[in-house]
Amino acid sequence: MNPVWMNQLSWIDYEARIQRDQPPVFLPVGALEQHGPHLPLGTDGLLSAAVSFDTASLVGGLVAPTLSYGYKSQPKCGGGQHFCGTTSVDAATLIASVRDAVREFARHGLSKLVVVNGHYENQWFLTEGIDLGLRDLGPGAKLQVMRLEYWDFLTEATLAHVFPNGFPGFALEHAAVIETSLMLHYHPNLVRTDLIGDDPTADFPPYDIYPTKKNWVPLSGVLTSAKGSTVEKGALMAHQLAQRMAAAVGDAFK
Ligand code: ZN
Ligand code: MN
Repeated sequence: MNPVWMNQLSWIDYEARIQRDQPPVFLPVGALEQHGPHLPLGTDGLLSAAVSFDTASLVGGLVAPTLSYGYKSQPKCGGGQHFCGTTSVDAATLIASVRDAVREFARHGLSKLVVVNGHYENQWFLTEGIDLGLRDLGPGAKLQVMRLEYWDFLTEATLAHVFPNGFPGFALEHAAVIETSLMLHYHPNLVRTDLIGDDPTADFPPYDIYPTKKNWVPLSGVLTSAKGSTVEKGALMAHQLAQRMAAAVGDAFK
């Protein structure tokens, strides 16, 4: 039994932890989405859960099971919906899932919930779910909810080190150096380093069009090269993410 993963605790132990410690509970959110030939479909959820686990371990928190299906993949940040395996939910479904989670965690007596997003497209729907959940609870509720995209906790100095030739931005950083390096750190057995290609950076126009055009997106599904990914970069980023997220959790819930 690991005392950090909520789903490994009995309800008796969980209740005792909540009542005694008022721990922050982390809710990782991911997606089931293509991540090129070298990373697994579950990368976004695996990474949000891993950074949540490391952060929770630093602050005495718990990690709830990951919401593993995300909002629809967009060509400019996830490759789009046309890839086999990319399995997404409607915005209303994601909003409702988060709203339900907020209500349920509040019912357990929680005061601190941290929604840790690992999929670029989820962001505003998580916000909406939190907002509706808190509205359901009403103004007397003691639950506070923090929402974050884990990559925002990387410093500019770290990004400069990880991308010596220039940082392409978080949208294009899909199945590329950040995610691949973090996966090499957390789940090395799930990375096919032999299949990392030298993909050119995708060049998108400054608009979207629907139905989406598949020919905007590289066939590999990788939006900018994953070459240059290393386990050292992954370890550096993982350490920084946990440290800075832990500090933010301490500040936010003071
Ligand atoms: Zn991803
Ligand atoms: Mn994603």
